[in-house]
Amino acid sequence: MNWDEPIDDAGAERLVGAAGDREEQAVEAALRPKDLGEFIGQEKVREQLDLVLRAARARGATADHVLLSGAPGLGKTTLSMIIAAEMEAPIRITSGPAIQHAGDLAAILSSLQEGEVLFLDEIHRMSRPAEEMLYMAMEDFRVDVIVGKGPGATAIPLELPPFTLVGATTRAGLLPPPLRDRFGFTAHMEFYEPAELERVIHRSANLLDLEIDAEGAAEIAGRSRGTPRIANRLLRRVRDYAQVKADGIITQDIARAALAVYEVDSRGLDRLDRGVLEALLKLFGGGPVGLSTLAVAVGEERETVEEVAEPFLVREGLLARTPRGRVATPAAWVHLGLTPPQASTGGNGQQDLFGA
Ligand code: ADP
Repeated sequence: MNWDEPIDDAGAERLVGAAGDREEQAVEAALRPKDLGEFIGQEKVREQLDLVLRAARARGATADHVLLSGAPGLGKTTLSMIIAAEMEAPIRITSGPAIQHAGDLAAILSSLQEGEVLFLDEIHRMSRPAEEMLYMAMEDFRVDVIVGKGPGATAIPLELPPFTLVGATTRAGLLPPPLRDRFGFTAHMEFYEPAELERVIHRSANLLDLEIDAEGAAEIAGRSRGTPRIANRLLRRVRDYAQVKADGIITQDIARAALAVYEVDSRGLDRLDRGVLEALLKLFGGGPVGLSTLAVAVGEERETVEEVAEPFLVREGLLARTPRGRVATPAAWVHLGLTPPQASTGGNGQQDLFGA
């Protein structure tokens, strides 16, 4: 495997953050399902991918290019490795931001072996010239390498061995249509159901040689934001607590106590998420309030509130982005144990927005 650049570490310091650091990558490698049978959940994607790979194997051909979209930590890298394993092919791993120039991509493509899987994470963040080179490589297994500069520059066509591109993106909608159209198979990965996360947690506990009961696993699953990476991470932190403060066995009480220490609440909100909600409710009566004002109140950058905290709060139905500003939903008041203001006490727009 070849990590061409460190993965984007935005939010790495958060226990419920999206990306992992290098230490986490090492643990994750040990916990990754190795084949489709071991991969939990995502039934549709698994079934479809199984057909794509079987058919390619039966034809003795290289599998079609695959596009995987979905939030970080849902298993895109894992699936790309499974694709390589099922095709008995080597895999090369890189990412869009690592490819600054078309030449970087040409160097990678021209060193691929026949049938190799190229995993391109964050494919939507590739530079435009690299993207255009990729179109031709995907379609015709050919690139034009430009030699020289200025008027004397010449394009030398270079044949590539057939390969399978596995592109990953957080949103398929971010990709230009010509790129999207060149994938033979596109799969959207959904957030996981709590029951699926429980299976992920039991599987990981088994691999890490940890003892955990059903209620302990359910408690961690409920706080994992639908994301296996977060489930595995919370499991490791709960393990630490169980080893230091208890007899090592992970029960519901231990999981609750441990996650209280790490400030991950019953729905998986962390300190930042709760800070945003609390400011919105306590300082602005539930909104609407502008993003910049809200960010100042929380003492965070605008981008942090918008990109790190809000997506999950919106997904959980706790916060809404409206043209007039950010608004807390009735569920947000309930979650923080507060009483929503009565509409009659001089409305703050909540009633119009939610009919509460
Ligand atoms: P992504 O590439 O989408 O960010 P990864 O493939 O790196 O996510 O997955 C993160 C971690 O979550 C992996 O280490 C893996 O152990 C675990 N994981 C992801 N999906 C599954 C799954 N379906 N079953 C079991 N574990 C999973």
